[in-house]
Amino acid sequence: MTEHVDSVVIGAGVIGIAVAGQLARAGREVIVLEACDAIGSGISSRNSEIIHAGIYYPKDSLKARLCVAGRDLLYTFCESHGVEFKRSGKLIVATEQAEVATLQTIFEKAKANGVDDLQWLTVKQAQAMEPHVRTAGALFSPSTGIVDSHGLMLALQGDAEENGAVFAFSSPVTGGQVDGCGIVLEVGGETPMRISCDRLVNAAGLHAQSVARKLEGLAPETIPPTFYARGNYFILGMKSPFRHLVYPVPVPGGLGTHSVLDMGGQTKFGPDVEWVDSLVYDVDPNRAERFYSAIRRYWPDLPDGVLQPGYAGIRPKLAGPEGGKWGTDFVVQGPECHAVAGLINLYGIESPGLTSSLAIAKWVADLLSKT
Ligand SMILES: Cc1cc2nc3c(=O)[nH]c(=O)nc-3n(C[C@H](O)[C@H](O)[C@H](O)COP(=O)(O)OP(=O)(O)OC[C@H]3O[C@@H](n4cnc5c(N)ncnc54)[C@H](O)[C@@H]3O)c2cc1C
Repeated sequence: MTEHVDSVVIGAGVIGIAVAGQLARAGREVIVLEACDAIGSGISSRNSEIIHAGIYYPKDSLKARLCVAGRDLLYTFCESHGVEFKRSGKLIVATEQAEVATLQTIFEKAKANGVDDLQWLTVKQAQAMEPHVRTAGALFSPSTGIVDSHGLMLALQGDAEENGAVFAFSSPVTGGQVDGCGIVLEVGGETPMRISCDRLVNAAGLHAQSVARKLEGLAPETIPPTFYARGNYFILGMKSPFRHLVYPVPVPGGLGTHSVLDMGGQTKFGPDVEWVDSLVYDVDPNRAERFYSAIRRYWPDLPDGVLQPGYAGIRPKLAGPEGGKWGTDFVVQGPECHAVAGLINLYGIESPGLTSSLAIAKWVADLLSKT
């Protein structure tokens, strides 16, 4: 027998949970199918937990628009739902004169994105804020913060459930058809079943492309390739000298090995960028040397022997280190691209996906209301 629901969301990461809440609040019947036995088992538990201001992304890109909108929605949601967060503020530091020009580019990008609270700091001002930082100039972003990502997901889940959404764990989507007679999904797990739905949101994170490939009738040329860029973290085994988040200027593929003091009071450094072929999360202790040299560019007094391997997260990239036609923006793909009514595929939801989650959810719900 095939059960029918209005809307199915695949994946209970921060994006799927936020989308489910948005759809449920709009009065839709929603079921979230999650392969694992708990929320947040994927990328959403393996990130920096930073609420980004929206500084770095190309003007008018989805990342820029959804990050700026999502940041405000997220701060408001955290305040109203008792989720732990802190507007820590962040310094982006040029470690040598040549990098000051990069700060200028970042400043202009931020302005174009509507981030109008970035402040230029002289060397003296930067060192007054962070005496241990070596810098040739810095920007300060007061609207950057940190959040307890698991607390956020729990609150989003609670909100979605209060509005009627149902979460089905250990329920991997193993196949489906989207061939003109509606959407039908095959769901594995202990009690395999078939579900038909009018609306389907594929928020399977690192597996979004493989889920899409399992949907018979979906044109394969609409599915982007998958590339993985692991981001490793090292934990600082001493009290941090920093009061704010401290970032170097960005590197290709990531934002640079930054210092994050999380809500639990632990300081971590990362993520770096390591292109990998599989979803393996072990942090190679031998990478420590690169961390010491990256961090010492802005914190020269980092003592030897204080960094321990931490954890790793994997970015779902749509293009490899050499780039590619799918670029670096989020891809929110609706019927105008694949011609399947009611289907939204979310691809490449890397950073700033956590920050953007509520704005992505609104965007997806708006798109679905038009199909
Ligand atoms: C190293 C790193 C650092 C980051 N730092 C930040 C940051 O500081 N700030 C920020 O804003 N963003 C950050 N991000 C980005 C952010 O973490 C992600 O954009 C966000 O967590 C993506 O959430 P998601 O729900 O799309 O994916 P996920 O959290 O991976 O959720 C997808 C879910 O789908 C499930 N699933 C997969 N296949 C199936 C299937 N067949 N059937 C059913 N379920 C399935 C998975 O089990 C998983 O639970 C970072 C990302 C990385 C990798």
